[in-house]
Amino acid sequence: MLTFVKQADLRIGHEYAFPTYSPYDDAPLAARVSVVSIDGGGKVTVQVVDPGPRPPARGWRAVHVKKSEQRQIKTRDIACPWSEWAERAASIGAEKKARIAEQRARHDEWDRERADRLAIDPGRALPKEYDEEVHFRSIDLEERSELTSAYITARNLGPYATPESIAPLLSDLPVMVLRDILAANKYREPVEPGSVAATFARAAWILDIARVALRETHDGRVLGEPPQPERVLNEVDLKFAEAVRVHIVAAGGALLLPPVPALPSWLDEPERAFLGTFGWLRLAVGDTNGRLLHSPGCSSVRSRPVLEADSIPWWQRALEIPERVCGRCGGPAVRDLVPLAGFVAAADVWNDRGRDRVEQWQQAAFQRLLAATASARAQALEPDITLAWRIVDAFAADPLGEEGWAAYATIVPTGWSHEELAGLTPSGREAARALVRERIVKLEALLPETERLLPLPKAADVQVLRQRHRHWKDRLRQSVPQLDRLLFTLPGAD
Ligand SMILES: [Zn+2]
Repeated sequence: MLTFVKQADLRIGHEYAFPTYSPYDDAPLAARVSVVSIDGGGKVTVQVVDPGPRPPARGWRAVHVKKSEQRQIKTRDIACPWSEWAERAASIGAEKKARIAEQRARHDEWDRERADRLAIDPGRALPKEYDEEVHFRSIDLEERSELTSAYITARNLGPYATPESIAPLLSDLPVMVLRDILAANKYREPVEPGSVAATFARAAWILDIARVALRETHDGRVLGEPPQPERVLNEVDLKFAEAVRVHIVAAGGALLLPPVPALPSWLDEPERAFLGTFGWLRLAVGDTNGRLLHSPGCSSVRSRPVLEADSIPWWQRALEIPERVCGRCGGPAVRDLVPLAGFVAAADVWNDRGRDRVEQWQQAAFQRLLAATASARAQALEPDITLAWRIVDAFAADPLGEEGWAAYATIVPTGWSHEELAGLTPSGREAARALVRERIVKLEALLPETERLLPLPKAADVQVLRQRHRHWKDRLRQSVPQLDRLLFTLPGAD
């Protein structure tokens, strides 16, 4: 650094260096001046003996002096006696050059590190950590935009894929995770075990479906086939969801999932296990006037794209009779594909690392799926607990045995029910009638006050009960799947 001469050290007639310009990357320039008078107040008058090298015309803080010119300057603007200047200027120059070389080296390292951050390598070993230091946040947007182009290249999308259509897929997960998802191929070709391509195959597959399914359509056809949840989720997801919850509990908190009602015993394992944890997952329903339930991607319907279509929770679809679900598309399909891809990426990384810890981004991925669910429910004006939820929950928790069949036969007049009833004693028939009434009363107790009808008398006859049953069936046809089976359990029915 420059040290300055004190006024008391200056001598009239002696020569000093008066710096005129200090470039950022080289030795400073100075004029050789001779002191004419010491003026006090920190000022001296000097005469220019030699202006020295000419500073650049627009050099920052450059001072332009002429030979023989006299000027008053501040004492502290004098650097040193002229005899010392050459050595001092050289040492300052060397120091600046060294600092710049060091900066360049840092830059090169940063460039190398950055280049590796975005290098898509299917054989890359699964990194031990994806959570990142803060210092890469500043380039986050830039990197995501580079990944957008990389996505188009990696998936061979050609000139018709626009960055705008890809960007929504790459907005949430950490950049490094997205890079490694791009390294995985969606065709599930054989890959190196332990590599990122192996870990992220499932996430890559879902993300690519999302790319197509989220696209605007012009003719009312949604491209791509969003998958049903049972095609996507596996046991790893169940265990991972539990691990995240335990992780949060260990930190003294709790993660509340959207409530899923008690489910009737006639739903099979392992579906029940998945519904218990993920029954709140939203499924998009294709638009149709028909009776069948479709996915928005079904080739037999025109529909709004998944995010604009209606949606229902998975548990509700699971209660439908199989005949109501379209055989061509497999029925309502996962709505929030991008958050789901993030969730399965987090689950698969957790699993492949030996299930030993949960990083921040992994917890965030689960919470984003919950947030997407909340957003879908807001769009549908659906509260935490719906009427259908309460009906399912109440009847699943209070199932009937074989006697449910006789009750059912009492109100469904068919050839089968005549036979069923003919086999009963009069007291058996009376018990069945009383049971029907009890179940309808139980149902009515769950309904909003405004919809309730006159209370059913204890002795209400079969005709009255049939009429009442028909009324509620019509009222709840759209919202409560398989109402009869919920009311009467019908053990052993298909
Ligand atoms: Zn369909």
